[in-house]
Amino acid sequence: MTLDITTLRIAFGAIAITLLVLFYTVSFRQTRSAYSAWWCAAIGFFFTGTSAFLLDGTVHQVWANPLGNTLLVMGTVSVWAGARTLRTSRPAWLQLAAAPLLTLFASFLGDPATDTWSGGAVLLGMMSLTIGLASWELWRLPSSYSKVQAPLAMASGFLAVLYLARCIAFVVGGQNGYLFTTFFGSGITTLVTMLLLVVVSFSAAALSAEQIATDLRARADRDALTGLLNRSGFLDVAVTQADRLERTGRPGTLILADLDYFKSVNDTHGHAAGDAVLKAFAEACTETVRSTDLVGRYGGEEFIFLLPGASVGRSEDITRDVSMALRGYSTPGGFELPTVSYGIVAIEAVDYDLDAAIAAADRALYAAKASGRDRSMRAIGPALEKERGSSTDTPDDSVSV
Ligand code: GH3
Ligand code: MG
Ligand code: MG
Repeated sequence: MTLDITTLRIAFGAIAITLLVLFYTVSFRQTRSAYSAWWCAAIGFFFTGTSAFLLDGTVHQVWANPLGNTLLVMGTVSVWAGARTLRTSRPAWLQLAAAPLLTLFASFLGDPATDTWSGGAVLLGMMSLTIGLASWELWRLPSSYSKVQAPLAMASGFLAVLYLARCIAFVVGGQNGYLFTTFFGSGITTLVTMLLLVVVSFSAAALSAEQIATDLRARADRDALTGLLNRSGFLDVAVTQADRLERTGRPGTLILADLDYFKSVNDTHGHAAGDAVLKAFAEACTETVRSTDLVGRYGGEEFIFLLPGASVGRSEDITRDVSMALRGYSTPGGFELPTVSYGIVAIEAVDYDLDAAIAAADRALYAAKASGRDRSMRAIGPALEKERGSSTDTPDDSVSV
């Protein structure tokens, strides 16, 4: 069976334009995700690129053929760029521009007026490389991302190998070689690409919806003013962390922090100054704790920490460091920054129960306020208290919970 390449190209064009319209209206208009935008661009480039090849054999071939090659590579580059956005890495424009420019250059370097395969090796090589990179990006997504990422990675991996095989057959045997014309010619590849385009478009719609959901989830977990986790975002992660500590029998602490007389900052210097103080405190927290520690804005001017592996003593040092870091910030009007009070509890002392830890830390924080502010107070859990037998040897800066 011989596949008439012109007919196939027209069929490919018809399918591509239908997919573009469907994908644009169904997926892009609804999600507006970066992934779906790149996928639309990819289909558009495949369509225009294949259409340019219809001018082969006419006087326009000299410019249309190199243009077609370049557009096809721009299409596969868009597939790669789209896959990159799923991992939230920004498209690197220089990297994206390199493959199409190289293809354009190579296509003109040959004899595009008479040779429809001018720059063919570079074209096939660049397509294989960029589709391969897209496949690699999809493999690297966390397996929990979406059900379709693995089949999609496999489909693009297969396509990358197919184009690599074409490239090798082309370089080894030339465009008229047995291998290239029999197995890797334009007809069969156009057919395979057409089928994959349809399959991938459907999976792409699912991935696009997934990207929006992930983005929304990330934004819902964050406090807009400070960029820290908000209360529910913090609690979600903290529950998992506390469970992990319990399973491994490791210690850890929970700290509640509250800025002292914060209301007077607002009253005296205005709400914007208050906001600046909250941001400064959030920065002081993140620059002081380790990357494995959790910090969140619990609400208003209250903040919450979970420090896996930390003792109460070490946590007291950390609260001192945070307060010191805060003092290092300058305020817009040069006014003095508020001090901070802290309540600290060892979570193993409350059997790794997060609610109990928060309640105990809150009581300790209240005691810190009552005894003069600008200090941290330890909560003594029931387990710890039992161990000690009585509260007579309880340190001065502790409060029974
Ligand atoms: P204390 O030492 O007892 O904690 O006194 P305080 O003034 O810090 O506590 P209080 O609870 O009386 O006041 C907290 C203030 O925090 C009241 C509220 O207007 C302010 N606040 C809460 N959220 C924000 C915010 O996002 N921005 C600003 N600027 N102020 C906030
Ligand atoms: Mg408060
Ligand atoms: Mg306060």
